[in-house]
Amino acid sequence: MQDVIIIGGSFAGLTAAMQLGRARRQVTVLDTGLNRNRYAEHAHNIFGFDGTPPGDLLKAARAQVAQYPTVKQVSGRAIGISGEPDNFIVTTAEGETISGRRIILSYGIVDEFPAIPGFAESWGKTVIHCPFCHGYEVAGTRWGLLYSSPMSLHGPVLYANWTDDITLILDGNDIIDEERSKLEKRGVRIVDGKLASIQHDGGRISGVTMEDGSQIGLEALYAHPRNRPSADLHLQLGLETKETPTGIMLAIGDMQATSKPGIFAAGDLTTGMHSVTFANNSGSLAAMGALQSMMV
Ligand SMILES: Cc1cc2nc3c(=O)[nH]c(=O)nc-3n(C[C@H](O)[C@H](O)[C@H](O)COP(=O)(O)OP(=O)(O)OC[C@H]3O[C@@H](n4cnc5c(N)ncnc54)[C@H](O)[C@@H]3O)c2cc1C
Repeated sequence: MQDVIIIGGSFAGLTAAMQLGRARRQVTVLDTGLNRNRYAEHAHNIFGFDGTPPGDLLKAARAQVAQYPTVKQVSGRAIGISGEPDNFIVTTAEGETISGRRIILSYGIVDEFPAIPGFAESWGKTVIHCPFCHGYEVAGTRWGLLYSSPMSLHGPVLYANWTDDITLILDGNDIIDEERSKLEKRGVRIVDGKLASIQHDGGRISGVTMEDGSQIGLEALYAHPRNRPSADLHLQLGLETKETPTGIMLAIGDMQATSKPGIFAAGDLTTGMHSVTFANNSGSLAAMGALQSMMV
């Protein structure tokens, strides 16, 4: 019987694993190795490791976690979960069955790329979602923002920290006249049509082509595709969820507790604010929550 089974061994899950390993708890971490930022060459805005490739960060973390003999890192995909506190059962696609007293769900989310030629190829390079992660490298250049929800209208205000050349591509959506004139007063160009394709060279974009054939020169395009949790275990457990502008997240309370006793969650699954640092923070809290709940 494991004390804690962690499902998803990336930034959130490995942080939780290290904390529990240092508390000498028996832990199994299941992971399929598909961290969300694997498309990016470098990870930024990370204390002490700014600019390090994401894979290098995870490799170092896995090696450090491996120093704790009570933590087992297993390459495998959790597909089933049942039971109750002190006796949860997790099954894997590889045919393993693991029982544990507590569960931490940290399996992250998957971005669903639109079928726009050039989008997937440039994702994480110059088609990006977060200026704090990748904006500095393209500061002062021509930025586009692909509208996806009313939240997109906050983008140009934020992006003004990095560039004064911003084009909002509405992609067939409409915005009210008041919003339109506010943005235009800020110097934002607004393009109404639908995006047809992205021109790029190895993921470095040079512009986009609209459905009417017009072209816009850009060095960066911000986009916020819909996302979904990477697994359906929260559905199997009937956990409460919350809507965000781009997908759903698990509803969590104090110490990352989900709506079911004994089950904690961390990382991108539990917040609309997606970053390595937030994932580390919530992973650490979830570990503490699981630990405290076993100390009664
Ligand atoms: C393109 C891009 C670039 C980014 N750049 C930055 C950056 O520069 N700086 C920054 O701070 N943030 C960045 N982010 C955000 C960052 O990637 C996420 O916030 C972070 O990865 C979240 O960590 P996580 O542990 O919650 O999830 P993830 O890192 O996505 O890890 C989830 C893990 O769970 C595993 N998994 C999924 N399903 C199962 C299952 N059923 N069983 C077992 N394992 C499973 C996956 O394989 C994966 O290893 C970027 C995001 C993107 C999309």
